[in-house]
Amino acid sequence: MTDAVSRPPKLVGVKGMNDIFPPESIWWEQLEQHVRSEMGAFGYLNVRTPIVEPTPLFVRGLGQNTDVVDKEMYSFVDRLNGESLTLRPENTAGLVRAASEHSLLHDGPKRLFYMGPMFRHERPQRGRYRQFHQVGAEALGFSGYEVDAELIVLAHRLWKRLGLTGVTLEINCLGQPNERLAHKAALVAYFTQHRSELDEDSLRRLTTNPLRILDTKNPHMQTLVNEAPKLIEFLGAPSHAFFDGVKAILSAHDVAFTINPRLVRGLDYYNLTVFEFVTDQLGAQGTICGGGRYDYLFQEVGGKAAPAVGWALGVERVLELLKVQGVAQPSAHVDIYAVIESVAQLPVVMACLQKLRDQGLVVYMHARGQGADDQSMGSMKSQFKRADASGAQYALVFGVDELQRHMVGVKNLRDRAAPQIEVSLDALVQWRAVVENRSQ
Ligand code: ATP
Ligand code: MG
Repeated sequence: MTDAVSRPPKLVGVKGMNDIFPPESIWWEQLEQHVRSEMGAFGYLNVRTPIVEPTPLFVRGLGQNTDVVDKEMYSFVDRLNGESLTLRPENTAGLVRAASEHSLLHDGPKRLFYMGPMFRHERPQRGRYRQFHQVGAEALGFSGYEVDAELIVLAHRLWKRLGLTGVTLEINCLGQPNERLAHKAALVAYFTQHRSELDEDSLRRLTTNPLRILDTKNPHMQTLVNEAPKLIEFLGAPSHAFFDGVKAILSAHDVAFTINPRLVRGLDYYNLTVFEFVTDQLGAQGTICGGGRYDYLFQEVGGKAAPAVGWALGVERVLELLKVQGVAQPSAHVDIYAVIESVAQLPVVMACLQKLRDQGLVVYMHARGQGADDQSMGSMKSQFKRADASGAQYALVFGVDELQRHMVGVKNLRDRAAPQIEVSLDALVQWRAVVENRSQ
């Protein structure tokens, strides 16, 4: 009974990379539509950059010692010329590279947005995948705090529009590089003074990346960390004024926020404003959107200096949160399902359905499945079952006898009591009149 010829092993997709089917994909499309319209309302225009970039772009742009560059990048050597390439782990560096390369800001600042897949080699778990999707908004060439605030307001409006609740905003000010250096020096001095209280991990970080000692989860070190010098104490008046400007605009919009002095974000390129939208309803992966100002990234990737600010949201996490919050899943809208008695009718019927689609209606046509019979479209009973399952409002019933008389049956699938009626094929050019006047 076993297959004599053994089949090749079944192929499966890459771990942590998801296939997205309907009806799930309808949710994706709906989110994308909301994004397009909200971005449009603020004048952010769509931009598309390659998924593959030269590896040095991320090493320089994101920072050598960041988690992403250190251990999460999908890098490979281009076999044809030996160049090291990387699947983009985020889109900001690529966008800045593209904007510099093409002097995009030569005629003024630009508001841009993107959506698409990103790649990070992380341990797959809920809300954390190896191919995931981001929507990002980036304002390039703007130096005032009003754009930082505008971007935050934009994201906030998006949550509202999607029907999300309980998303909280955390913000912080990272100041400028010189202020961070002064803070870092003070931190090193402080932790060196308390060397005996440091655990092994922190001792190592003292020389490699002292700021990360602040992230320690060790309960015995919390007091030490809490009493460490705070960045805010090292910020000068201009940084404070910038932060105050952002906060005043958010307050005027009734956008609630908390200041989180420990919010530093994972990538090296941020300065001044940083922010995250977080939820406690997604377990450990609670950040749905993060961003900030990155005034030094343009020069870091070798371009002319330009101020910039932006954010990126994780599509999978936002959609997961919608589900957790019980937001109703959208379904495909179907107006009509065409039930067809005989194969011979197909040319006439299919031409007829065009008239309905020309009116903007969504029309599904019954078609034969696997193992199609040359002669039969399938029983009327099974076709009606499909019609019902499609969610269509109406079935159009193309019976052989009716069609000979130039007529077609109309059945309201959502009102069982409504009788099937007959209308002339010519009447279909005015579907609205058909359903409003005659099928009730
Ligand atoms: P996290 O701390 O959760 O790893 P991050 O700081 O690395 O996030 P960013 O680089 O700021 O994330 O990316 C912006 C958003 O993209 C995140 O807030 C999150 O919603 C989403 N995101 C990041 N990494 C993943 C991933 N591996 N899978 C799914 N979504 C992700
Ligand atoms: Mg991460």
